[in-house]
Amino acid sequence: MQKKKDIRALTKEELRAFFVAQGDKSFRGNQVYEWLWSKGAHSFEAMTNISKSTRAMLEEHFVINHIQVDSMQRSSDGTVKNAVRLHDGLIVESVLIPTESRTTACVSSQVGCSLNCNFCATARLKRMRNLNPDEIYDQVAAINKESLLYYNHKLSNIVFMGMGEPLMNYNNVLKAIDKITSPEGLGMSPRRITVSTSGIPKMIKKMADDEVKFNLAVSLHSAIDEIRTKIMPFNETFPLDDLRDALKYWYAKTERRVTYEYVVWDGINDNKESINALINFCKHIPCKVNLIEYNPIDDGEYQQASQNAINNYISNLEMHGIVVNVRRSRGKDIDAACGQLANKGQ
Ligand code: SF4
Repeated sequence: MQKKKDIRALTKEELRAFFVAQGDKSFRGNQVYEWLWSKGAHSFEAMTNISKSTRAMLEEHFVINHIQVDSMQRSSDGTVKNAVRLHDGLIVESVLIPTESRTTACVSSQVGCSLNCNFCATARLKRMRNLNPDEIYDQVAAINKESLLYYNHKLSNIVFMGMGEPLMNYNNVLKAIDKITSPEGLGMSPRRITVSTSGIPKMIKKMADDEVKFNLAVSLHSAIDEIRTKIMPFNETFPLDDLRDALKYWYAKTERRVTYEYVVWDGINDNKESINALINFCKHIPCKVNLIEYNPIDDGEYQQASQNAINNYISNLEMHGIVVNVRRSRGKDIDAACGQLANKGQ
């Protein structure tokens, strides 16, 4: 028997063409599209303004591969973590992070990750597959619902900082963002979306060429090749010079500043040389630095540096006019914090 196709992999145009090929009106495609995206229908049965015979025909040809929120944990600080079951049984995690002024969704782009950052829990899962656009979209839609339910307002921001390297699943991430920002999807502004990458130079250039409208963040963690390679071994293949060139290219094309995500670890990058290297790296293009609080995934060599070391970073960066924010980690008690997503609740 032929495998049924996921209907949500079709564009609106493809859906319209499908109905025409079936001898129906193209308009029917619009109706079904609206059910699938604006109304979030989980079954053909739910499409009540579509005739029974058309619904049966759709059932014959397609499936709707919706995600299922398998479990939901709420942290004492209000952070919500969803374990999301995909149609093939695999699980990814996404997180809702509330602050006073906004609610942010942190979503996954791959099941596991093919990169091997040594400080990261997801890296231990290895990459199993890329997420489809609708699976990424569904995570955001689920969190949007939770934001409305618990905080009485819609989701305000999205960061692609969950499981996986988004630029290794670039086309699907782009398609998902198209849907998230379209009026038929969630109608969110791309300015409120940030794609956070470990820094793959050729993909950063591609994003600039594609004139994407969302924001770019790079997990930098060190501006010294030797140290960065130790933390993120793929830096050997994509060294800092290449990353710097790609970021310059990005800025020349988009005129948008980049955010550098940076963790200070005890005995790894908590020294003056690392601070100076970061300051020099920040001179290449307009940027800001987010110093992220780290949650150890074990008692190994990656432990958060002392407050004194972090203060040293802050004062030196500020002295050089670099904007620096300290990002307190949220949801620690439910393993929802940065670098902790590893399906541990399963
Ligand atoms: S930090 Fe990001 S890119 Fe690195 S292994 Fe973890 S999920 Fe992958």
